Amino acid sequence: MDRQLLYVHEIIPIFKTKGENKTLPYQVVLLPYDEDANSELKFENLIREVRLGRQGDSDYSVGQRYKKYGQKHIYEGCFVRLNDKGTIENVNGDPDARRKRLAINVLRAYIAGMYREPDNKRGLPVSGVRSYHINVGHGNTSIIAFRFNDGTHLWMIDCAGIEIGTWKKYEDNITACFEHIKKAYNMSAEPKIDKLLITHPHYDHISSAAKLITKNKLVPGAEIWLNRKFSFPSGCYKNFLQIIKANENKLRLIEPLRKNSTANIRVWYPDFIIKGTKSETVGRAPDGKVNNASVVYNIHLGGKSMVFPGDIETAGWNLITDCKPCDGKADYYCVSHHGSLTGHLRTVCPVSRNISDIACCTNNMSKAILMGRDGVYNGIIHQEVRKCFGPRLSITTDMNGTSETKFLELDWAAGSVTRY
Ligand SMILES: [Zn+2]
Ligand SMILES: [Zn+2]
Repeated sequence: MDRQLLYVHEIIPIFKTKGENKTLPYQVVLLPYDEDANSELKFENLIREVRLGRQGDSDYSVGQRYKKYGQKHIYEGCFVRLNDKGTIENVNGDPDARRKRLAINVLRAYIAGMYREPDNKRGLPVSGVRSYHINVGHGNTSIIAFRFNDGTHLWMIDCAGIEIGTWKKYEDNITACFEHIKKAYNMSAEPKIDKLLITHPHYDHISSAAKLITKNKLVPGAEIWLNRKFSFPSGCYKNFLQIIKANENKLRLIEPLRKNSTANIRVWYPDFIIKGTKSETVGRAPDGKVNNASVVYNIHLGGKSMVFPGDIETAGWNLITDCKPCDGKADYYCVSHHGSLTGHLRTVCPVSRNISDIACCTNNMSKAILMGRDGVYNGIIHQEVRKCFGPRLSITTDMNGTSETKFLELDWAAGSVTRY
């Protein structure tokens, strides 16, 4: 029987209250390699509850015992199939899986030649800064617009226009946002993106990134900040790399590492090259989580700044030192990991405060924007996150996905949020 090739998109601990023990069950989120290509497998059937551990009494093993546990060893980013009993089998070694991985690796190697040093290490004197946070269902898409040298410039952080799981298209909201920006900034030409900053290759952050290039929404010579070293077995990621390669003369790639920070784009994390999630690899994402491969961007423009942490979770937060003094003097925050508890908890503070979450790190930030849908996974949106941000919090979707919101506009000078 030809069973569909899937990959482990994410492994999510199920805990209801802060500080609960981590040996509880986990939700394993599986996706077809061709994520949105008419999968016959329903998303609900691809979310499995399992017990993970290194001992024989758990359903599956994680960690370093790949050889010992064989098929019962799973980790984020490995290829799997569901067998007839509905259990998950690691099929990373299967010829089909190897071929797919190889195709992605060849592309990742090819685009190495497109990497450049970031230009403009000096800060730009800009005005009229506003950020737009687009309702793409469950996923992240933000655009920052500002004026500089009599022109309007747009930077984008992540680009997902197709919702994970429902495969519903939200690209009209992205188009509506571009149209709004054109009017708001009195632009005569179609607005285009100067810099596309990718946090991590999860589907809910890159599902429309390739289309942005094919639909000619990037200026010639646009920068894409992308960690190409990260190994990830998604068809959507492969497609993105393929389109980057096909446009190699029009794009510049930048390695999103701390050492490549500019005055306007400060990369807080990572400061080492993250290559994957498999335990044996050098440059493993902390905790083996794809989310901890998220680049944390702190964007400084017009005297204000905003933190875009992608989906970073506890082990990633704990490695960050540039947040001192406390929030790196940031004004605004894009809530990590769609408001999950693991995106909120932090135990290590670079100024040695005794902390259990990022409440104190974000105390001085006056607005928090949350992109995501309540209930899409267990523990999203978590009550601790709502409680922490209270009235500072704005969410792009409503609770059941019927929101009419197209996008939120955050005016950086005024600190006000408008819903469109
Ligand atoms: Zn995400
Ligand atoms: Zn993610």
